Amino acid sequence: MAESVWVFLLALLTAVATGLGALPFLLFQNPTRSWLGVSNALAAGLMLAASLGLVYEGLAYGLWRTALGILLGLLFIVVTRRLIQREEHPAVFAGMGALDARKALLVVGVMTLHSFTEGVAIGVSFGGSEALGLFIAVALAVHNIPEGLAISLVLVPRGIGVGRAALWSILSSVPQPVMAVPAFLFVALFSPLLPSGLGFAAGAMVWMVFSELVPDALEEANGATVTTVVALSAAAMVAFQFLIR
Ligand SMILES: [Zn+2]
Repeated sequence: MAESVWVFLLALLTAVATGLGALPFLLFQNPTRSWLGVSNALAAGLMLAASLGLVYEGLAYGLWRTALGILLGLLFIVVTRRLIQREEHPAVFAGMGALDARKALLVVGVMTLHSFTEGVAIGVSFGGSEALGLFIAVALAVHNIPEGLAISLVLVPRGIGVGRAALWSILSSVPQPVMAVPAFLFVALFSPLLPSGLGFAAGAMVWMVFSELVPDALEEANGATVTTVVALSAAAMVAFQFLIR
């Protein structure tokens, strides 16, 4: 019992770390709409590299289960997007135009979705050994910071304040403490699902990058800038993920 509380608290800490990703925006007083092109390109690179990291992780558990997960993730996001588009105005983000609110909702939604699997990863690792669990929790906490940055990059230039962007970032990671405890208590049940979950999250995120973030970036900034920023931020995120392993 005491162990479950420990797992929960550590996973909660990884969620809170996501909020740190909003902090760079404290330095920039008025991130205006003109930032949206570069901002979206940056977020696209971060999310692209993060999703490749998920696939890589999944492959260590099983090729076919990961591949199945990717297909399900793609299917899920296509259906979800249809449903959101039917709604007149997603009322979650007050003060935003309908189009912006829809995009913001999709990005926060996809990031929240992928946190479920990461919560399972924390719990399953703790089931393996406490040292492994601790390592994965710390690695995920650090990994969450650029993901919070990606979310803030989408929200802040669309008019959301830094504090609220930090809060949305933390909320997107709340599934981590929520899922970590049951996955820890029922490792045998959850661990076979892990590669599919990782693939699922990766499929949804890659789709998001190419169907929302990159086209959006291209509307506001020229092709050369967008490509350069996507490539550089993806490379930086890959290097970052490699270093915190
Ligand atoms: Zn992640």
